[in-house]
Amino acid sequence: MRLTKDNVTIGIHTRFGPNWPGIRCLAKTRRGTKCQRAAYKHNGRCGLHGGLSTGARTSEGLQRISAANIKHGRQTKDKLAAQRHAAKVGRPVLGELKRLERQLEDAGLMPDGD
Ligand SMILES: [Zn+2]
Repeated sequence: MRLTKDNVTIGIHTRFGPNWPGIRCLAKTRRGTKCQRAAYKHNGRCGLHGGLSTGARTSEGLQRISAANIKHGRQTKDKLAAQRHAAKVGRPVLGELKRLERQLEDAGLMPDGD
């Protein structure tokens, strides 16, 4: 027998036909009929009628999302601030070291480095 659109029985038990035993969305559609799509367990509506997530509400939830999105933490706010602070403190120290080195070289107490 040749398989055509009407005589295929493969997977017929899992199809969303009129006799599908699962829970349907049943939201009111723009046509005025009830939505026939399969409902999600958590809200009883389908992906079209249940709406999207409004995001984390609690600070705990926000923190969990933040932790899930951090890959290595090298670019986090506090790390960048620490780097800026280290550079700000380190620059004058390096300058002072260079100045002392030059003084010692000029006084002949240290071999010429470069
Ligand atoms: Zn629906």
